[in-house]
Amino acid sequence: RMFNNADVRFPSITGEDGRELPVTHGTYISLMEHPDRRIRREAFQSLYSVYRQYSNTLAAAFGANVKQAVFYAKARKYTSSREYYLSSNEVPEGVYDRLVSSVRKSLPLMHRYMSLRKRLLGVDELHMYDVYVPLTSQGNTHYTFEEAKKIVKEGLAPLGEEYLSLLETGFEGRWIDVYENEGKRSGAYSWGIYGCHPYVLLNFHGTLNDVFTLAHEMGHAIHTWYSNENQPYVYAGYKIFVAEVASTCNEALLIRYLLKQCKEKKERAYLLNHFLESFRATLFRQTMFAEFEKTVHELGAAGESLTSEKLCGIYQKLNEDYFGPDMVSDSEIGYEWERIPHFYTPFYVYQYATGFSAAVAISRRIMEGEPGILEGYKRFLSGGCSMEPVELLKLCGVDMSESRPVDQAMEFFEELLDEFEVCMK
Ligand SMILES: [Zn+2]
Repeated sequence: RMFNNADVRFPSITGEDGRELPVTHGTYISLMEHPDRRIRREAFQSLYSVYRQYSNTLAAAFGANVKQAVFYAKARKYTSSREYYLSSNEVPEGVYDRLVSSVRKSLPLMHRYMSLRKRLLGVDELHMYDVYVPLTSQGNTHYTFEEAKKIVKEGLAPLGEEYLSLLETGFEGRWIDVYENEGKRSGAYSWGIYGCHPYVLLNFHGTLNDVFTLAHEMGHAIHTWYSNENQPYVYAGYKIFVAEVASTCNEALLIRYLLKQCKEKKERAYLLNHFLESFRATLFRQTMFAEFEKTVHELGAAGESLTSEKLCGIYQKLNEDYFGPDMVSDSEIGYEWERIPHFYTPFYVYQYATGFSAAVAISRRIMEGEPGILEGYKRFLSGGCSMEPVELLKLCGVDMSESRPVDQAMEFFEELLDEFEVCMK
């Protein structure tokens, strides 16, 4: 954290107007979205030149973290560090392996998405610095907060009367701090307090993304509300494994609703791309991270030294597997593991991918009006940590110990991809 947040500095690059452009953690993503390819490439090279420079130091820090995890697991008689960390959330290891094998099976879809990206960008070679640049323009659609609330209410209507009235209570009951203000932190989150209603922080600017964020954060808030309302204090806090399910389910319901509503081609393309990107960043990327962690911890447990060369090699190979033959394997990307702080919290990130898959599966059952699904979903939201996370999800008919939920999420990805290809013809 100290290295990444306080010490590290990246060389500036030259902007379009000839002026110096600073490269920082804060500007990096917007530079990766820049329409000028030279700027994207130089920002990418600037960032990784520094991670390359400190690679041995960071390998030593990360290697020590892995060995520590391996030691704790051994000392407590677990068979592996993964078993140790997963057991703290009461998640069986099979869930992790099933996620990886299902996502691996669907990698051709990701490769297809990358080929399409290459074609749409009109480049001879697709590089890692071409991954974030938007494929569609958003248009000028601007939403007031009143409009955003209305869209979210319409999108979440399939969740039933009770859910909608809670949403209304939150909207009207001043749960939400809506706009940016001096000294207010950026981003968005929801926070719960037992015995009181949840609170939501937004920085609402009126983009479509902000409308999705509102649906997402209210998903967390209402999940918290149900669990606090129905559980004693000790069982009220839900585990990370299920934490992103309610929020992502709301986003999935909203995208399904908006796609139904929207007939205009350009706007449809924008919506489709928005959700395809969520799949790429959450389901594919986090599963790739999960594979990296598993391999590295196994090597650590086998007593191998985790050198920069070894870590970069593993990462580079995974990146090639995930992005496919159309992606040029720039040597810089091998260093990416150095800038993922989550790796210092072992076996954490896979939960983003499982949560996302579960949410897509649940949203599908809700949209299809499956008998008993709303009742089951309410019991899930009310469960807190009173049951094991995998058992809680079974209340909504989703069994994460099987490969079906991830496979079904991938089917949805394919549907969206098919439609996006048609839209962009
Ligand atoms: Zn969230």
